[in-house]
Amino acid sequence: MRSILKVHWDSNLPIYEISQSELKKEGINCLLLDVDGTLLNRKSTNIPIAVKTWIFESKKLFTLYLISNNPSKERIAKIAKELKLRYKHKAFKPRKKIMMNVIEEISYESKNTAIIGDRIFTDIIVGNRCNIKTILVKRLNRDGLPMKFNLTLIIEKLISFLIK
Ligand SMILES: [Mg+2]
Repeated sequence: MRSILKVHWDSNLPIYEISQSELKKEGINCLLLDVDGTLLNRKSTNIPIAVKTWIFESKKLFTLYLISNNPSKERIAKIAKELKLRYKHKAFKPRKKIMMNVIEEISYESKNTAIIGDRIFTDIIVGNRCNIKTILVKRLNRDGLPMKFNLTLIIEKLISFLIK
């Protein structure tokens, strides 16, 4: 994408098709994960099996941390508990403060850290601002499958292009 926003990898894939070995090859050892849209549909409470499998495989290779803008502690805590991951809800992406605190907490170098998310104006921008790698994935629908048509992303890409 030609834009002022730097997406290191516009994967066009759902998170569970992201290759862990490719990430390792890039030197990544820490992943900050968006929750709603990325791990499950925001209207769903079921984490798709494919996502769970991906997370449990990834745990062997990376430090994982959930970082969500969702104001519901109940929802994000429940998902984090099920996946046995640390989390932040109400993260105010694209604001930097909470993300920087997390990066400091897990104390990985920013060059070895990436954020994976489904939105440009929150996940990608905050990743750029915190100087970490950014991976854009497809948003999941209620069946846990990648959405074919994502109007938010089309609009965000268009705006990113116009302000480049
Ligand atoms: Mg999201």
